[in-house]
Amino acid sequence: MRNIKIFFMSVLFLLSTIVYALDEVNMNQNNFQNFLDDFISKVELKEEQLNRAVWILETTGSKDAASLVGSLSSELKILFSDKDIYEKIVSFNKEEEIDPLLKRQIHILINAFKGNMLPKEILHEISTKEAALNQIYANFRAKIDGKVYSENSLRDILRKEKSVDLRKKAWDASKIVGIELAPKIVELAHLRNKAANNLGYQNYFEMMLDLSDINKIKLLKTFDDLKNKTDESFNKILLHVNETLSNEFKVSLDEIGPWAYKDPFCQMDPIETSKLNELFQDKDLLKISKSFYEQMGFKVDDLIDGSDLYERDGKNQHAFCISVNRKKDVRTLNNIKPNVQWMETLLHEFGHGIYDLEIDENLPWLLREHPHILTTEAIALLMGRQVYTKEFLRDFLDVKDEKIFNEVENGLKRRQLFFSRSAFMITEFEAKMYEDPNQDLNTLWWDLYEKYYNSPRPKDREDKADWAAKYHVGLAPVYYYSYLLGEVFASTLQKQLLDVAKDDNIWKKDAAIFLKDKMFSHGSKYRWDQLIENVLDSPFSIDDWVEECSR
Ligand SMILES: [Zn+2]
Repeated sequence: MRNIKIFFMSVLFLLSTIVYALDEVNMNQNNFQNFLDDFISKVELKEEQLNRAVWILETTGSKDAASLVGSLSSELKILFSDKDIYEKIVSFNKEEEIDPLLKRQIHILINAFKGNMLPKEILHEISTKEAALNQIYANFRAKIDGKVYSENSLRDILRKEKSVDLRKKAWDASKIVGIELAPKIVELAHLRNKAANNLGYQNYFEMMLDLSDINKIKLLKTFDDLKNKTDESFNKILLHVNETLSNEFKVSLDEIGPWAYKDPFCQMDPIETSKLNELFQDKDLLKISKSFYEQMGFKVDDLIDGSDLYERDGKNQHAFCISVNRKKDVRTLNNIKPNVQWMETLLHEFGHGIYDLEIDENLPWLLREHPHILTTEAIALLMGRQVYTKEFLRDFLDVKDEKIFNEVENGLKRRQLFFSRSAFMITEFEAKMYEDPNQDLNTLWWDLYEKYYNSPRPKDREDKADWAAKYHVGLAPVYYYSYLLGEVFASTLQKQLLDVAKDDNIWKKDAAIFLKDKMFSHGSKYRWDQLIENVLDSPFSIDDWVEECSR
């Protein structure tokens, strides 16, 4: 009897699992779509609330807004850490013949969920540690001879100061924050690796690339190619730059070090002409940007109205663009000053803005976004860099001086080459740091500097932690590579758009129509590399960037 009872019980159990399994299999596309709509409506609402709070925080610095941002972002995270929902999505994904648009949404969802499928303690520990790091960065003020300097004033010294002594002090002061941050970033790297291991990845670097649809081997190979194909050009320019700076600062050539360049991380054009800045001194940058985009046929009035454009106390001092609701509410934050950097930045942020505004509103919510940060960066970088073309200076500032034309174009090339070295360096640094966070990271940092900048490391840095002073290493990890891929894609686009516009500049309606139809409107319908292939009618290529840099 006993056995029979057990037998019946197991039959019942077996039946119920079969029924359950059948139910899963039969959950057809419509059912899944209904379930998805329900889930996405919650995400949509939460994301919009979060974006509105972020906007208030960044434009006012309000403490209430900061705590609201904190709670809304964890509520959003909680939505993406529901294991039952994740499993439902993964299991539906095994079905054959899923509609491609739905398949793409599922892929995006799985990537979004995967990074959150971790024990709650790990997630909590990571976000607590990141918040603490953020706090240190935000409150850090560099000191020179006991006097406090803001980040902007340090950068000003590196941009303009002639005194070698003060430049060296400013460069050194910009790195001090690293010493305090380094042990905390190492702890965080271990935690991030633990999270990645938990999900079956070798380390955090590999996980982050995989969840952004980037093939690590291909990426590193692309970066090697970019370096090898432009090294000759870089070395030639480096020599010219160092000779120019050694004359300017009256020091011998071998004394030139990172302190002599225009920014703490050797990314800008190190010998940018001050004449360029003077051109913008008395100009209305907003009017120029509006006219630039309107010539292309983009409507930017609402974007401008919704934006917060000028400096104010309590406001974020940098710049960004935010799509509040993945519809028409797109805003930018800027702190416009009449100089070339802000001209570039304004065109850059509005570039993100027009991309967001032109995404097809009829696409499902999940697809109303760029497929990868690199595609939107490519557009923003492409628009921003127009400032450094003679055609822009001619059309928008009425400049006729041939000497300035040559200077800006050489400057753009120098900037591409110096910036790329920094992107190579940071990317390889991150790859190696996550392989072994316990190694001597400061030695690694300067080894890579020597490799990529083909310059000797500066003296007396042995007991420092210069790598940790770079914001992205701690707080925007595995991100830097996107900027360089964006630059590379921007160069290909520039060439393509000139062909489309049949002119010597890209601020033409035909160029804009091309971008809207071939790229912006599709949102995330395709993976980033497929989108690029559709836009160019050929795969992602480095040739145009390499050509521009070696011209
Ligand atoms: Zn950007």
